Amino acid sequence: MRAAFDSVLSAGHFVLGKSVSDFESQFAHWCGVEHAVGVGNGSDALELALRALDVGVGARVLTVANAGAYATTAIRACGALPVYVEIDPDSLLMDADALACALKSAPAAVIVTHLYGRLAAIERIVADCAARGIAVIEDCAQAHGAQRAGQRAGSFAQIGCFSFYPTKNLGALGDGGALITRDAALAKRLRALRQYGWTHKYQVDLPHGRNSRLDELQAALLSVKLPGLDADNQRRRSIAQRFDAGIGHCEIRLPSGRAGWDDVVHLYVLLCPRRAALRAHLAECGVHSAVHYPLADYQQPAWRSAVHLPHTEQATAQVLSLPCHPALNDEEIARVINAVNSFV
Ligand SMILES: *Cc1c(COP(=O)(O)O)cnc(C)c1O
Repeated sequence: MRAAFDSVLSAGHFVLGKSVSDFESQFAHWCGVEHAVGVGNGSDALELALRALDVGVGARVLTVANAGAYATTAIRACGALPVYVEIDPDSLLMDADALACALKSAPAAVIVTHLYGRLAAIERIVADCAARGIAVIEDCAQAHGAQRAGQRAGSFAQIGCFSFYPTKNLGALGDGGALITRDAALAKRLRALRQYGWTHKYQVDLPHGRNSRLDELQAALLSVKLPGLDADNQRRRSIAQRFDAGIGHCEIRLPSGRAGWDDVVHLYVLLCPRRAALRAHLAECGVHSAVHYPLADYQQPAWRSAVHLPHTEQATAQVLSLPCHPALNDEEIARVINAVNSFV
């Protein structure tokens, strides 16, 4: 990391240089697609994806309401309206049957979040949307490298969006993001949109462009970390398997259906109706926990509306994330398990 840092410093080129284009090719190749476009952060990636697909004022975009409001923020930034699809109560991901029903209202696009590191039913969702000519965007900010039948998150739909915020499975030392696509024309639009709408210097060909660039330093650091990502994800998965096997409590429901590489365990999330008491107990045992996320998007003070989705609200009321990252050691894992199991 220090060598990468020094090489950017001595090259003296800090924005959209060789480190960014090298990282873009490496990341595209790693994801199994032709094009990657580095941007400022994951939220910008979502917004630029919508703009590249011509989603504008008054358009409706389908998404879920339990995924931290990032998609909603991007949809609203385009002047579009989020329409919320219910989640599956077991996976806590978009319910593909509910989506199939909602597609009849002819939305402009769908944003699918691979929440907590788990791939959604993306093959079916992409097929159902393709049949109606509706574009799909995958939010992969928690799912770098998740794969099914050898195909990685972000490569199923028209566009995949990533964040490299430091705590993500692939994290920079600051903000960063990227979009991936197989479509050369979309990649070209995204490259223009991330830089003022320019196709050439000082020539604005696309409306709604902005400045959202991945910088050289972050790109160089990400190129150092990318080769270790599969091993880090494997470590996360083995920690999750230890939690799955070790935690047993009649008031706690563990994540179901953790099959294989389709879950890169960005977060280890359990469900507990007495969440506040469990959190307090864990804190007493010296175990940090967090809630991802406490409010459905439509319950956020900024956007309150009359939507009511029971499975979504049950999830927001009960989810609790345990510590789960590649640097946890075996003794710490055992402490977390004992702390959870001793909850009364
Ligand atoms: C972190 C995250 C984002 C936003 O990424 P930033 O880089 O913080 O803007 C978007 N979607 C999901 C699911 C995330 O977890």
